[in-house]
Amino acid sequence: MAALQQLARAASRPALSAIRGTSASRKYSSAGSPNGYNFELNETQKEYQELARKFTAEEIIPRAAELDRTGEYPWDIIKKAWELGLLNNHIPADIGGMELSVFDGCLIAEEFAYGCTGVKTALEASGLGQTPVLIAGNKEQKKKYLGRLLEEPLVAAYGVTEPGAGSDVNGIKTRAEKKGDEYIVNGQKMWITNGGVANWYFLLARTNPDPKCPASKAFTGFIVDADTPGLTPGRKEINMGQRCSDTRGITFEDVRIPKENVLGAEGAGFKIAMGTFDKTRPPVAAGATGLTRRCLDEATKYSLERKTFGTQIANHQAVAFMLADMAQAYELSRLGWMRSAWEADRGSKSTAFHASIAKCFAADMANKCASDAVQIFGGNGFNSEYPVEKLMRDAKIFQIYEGTSQIQRLIISRNLLAKAAGKA
Ligand SMILES: Cc1cc2nc3c(=O)[nH]c(=O)nc-3n(C[C@H](O)[C@H](O)[C@H](O)COP(=O)(O)OP(=O)(O)OC[C@H]3O[C@@H](n4cnc5c(N)ncnc54)[C@H](O)[C@@H]3O)c2cc1C
Repeated sequence: MAALQQLARAASRPALSAIRGTSASRKYSSAGSPNGYNFELNETQKEYQELARKFTAEEIIPRAAELDRTGEYPWDIIKKAWELGLLNNHIPADIGGMELSVFDGCLIAEEFAYGCTGVKTALEASGLGQTPVLIAGNKEQKKKYLGRLLEEPLVAAYGVTEPGAGSDVNGIKTRAEKKGDEYIVNGQKMWITNGGVANWYFLLARTNPDPKCPASKAFTGFIVDADTPGLTPGRKEINMGQRCSDTRGITFEDVRIPKENVLGAEGAGFKIAMGTFDKTRPPVAAGATGLTRRCLDEATKYSLERKTFGTQIANHQAVAFMLADMAQAYELSRLGWMRSAWEADRGSKSTAFHASIAKCFAADMANKCASDAVQIFGGNGFNSEYPVEKLMRDAKIFQIYEGTSQIQRLIISRNLLAKAAGKA
């Protein structure tokens, strides 16, 4: 860590920007050379990855078990990551951000997730809250709300899901009624990551009460300051895994939002909320990939230490093949997030298709690998003194948040069937 702090101190801006400033390869906004298919990261990307890997080893891994036990929000880690410029990666350069590509953000996310996906989710959920502002915010909104996150180690959140509607976003009931220059919001959100710690939220609310109004016109996206009167976060939810991440319901009671905080235009919210996932599902997939790599590393190490029947368990083919399956899962999950991030960075029309493939596959693989890692650890795997039971609990949410695995398969199948019918 000393080296990182030195780097941060030596740079007039945080360490990540120092890396960027020293490299001439900024034109490579994602992996690969301009000459074609290439699996080599460029020098800048290798440095981002190395910085995040070192940070994970020194700041996240030593704290992960304790944070899991206490459920404490990892503010200290967030502050250190912020100081090094490892947060808020995608904020545009003209307001002082790093403006990293989706791809480069994923490289960092995979490293954080290797250490603890609870910490990774706490960090990444702020990116999820920021993305609607990145894609639809005007200059003033970006400067005010994204700029604030650069000035201080604060986090944002994304408020869409409600107690009665998650997968079916069209079913959300929170209402925003226009009165003069303000909107009055009433309703209830649920499962909002960073719900109790965010400085501001992206909020999706219904502005057209007509149930026949299509989703593409019925909802509006807002930025809401967390200290707005009438906005009340609920208790911290006690979840199965990723326990240091802060998940809460939020109540809105006559919350007044100035019209300046509408994102895009009234009625444009659904598209903004869904378009966000093109940029945020690749990092979720990268997070699941990081967890899979951790399973592989822990299980490999243990299988070389533990002996049964006079030999290391790695020498039993049944165990070695589980490791082989994990290695496949890791390599292919990684290719999946890379492909989807690459599609997102070039603004491809098939980004949603690839982002869903990446997220669905990496989430399923993380769950299989975590379960197999527990199996390889035997009885020890079932115990919290060893790292893999946490991995198994942490893995599950990847199949649920940012669209369940069923919803990803729905998106994938709809896309491929539309293509087959010549409609895409
Ligand atoms: C820890 C955590 C953090 C979260 N963070 C956030 C956040 O920051 N912001 C936010 O807005 N939301 C967040 N969520 C909400 C999350 O995105 C939703 O839980 C998720 O989208 C599923 O919605 P649901 O829980 O209402 O399940 P439901 O939509 O009720 O689904 C229940 C089951 O039915 C299946 N299903 C539903 N519809 C279909 C269909 N058409 N075809 C096939 N199967 C279907 C689902 O796959 C699931 O298995 C979070 C959730 C959790 C648990």
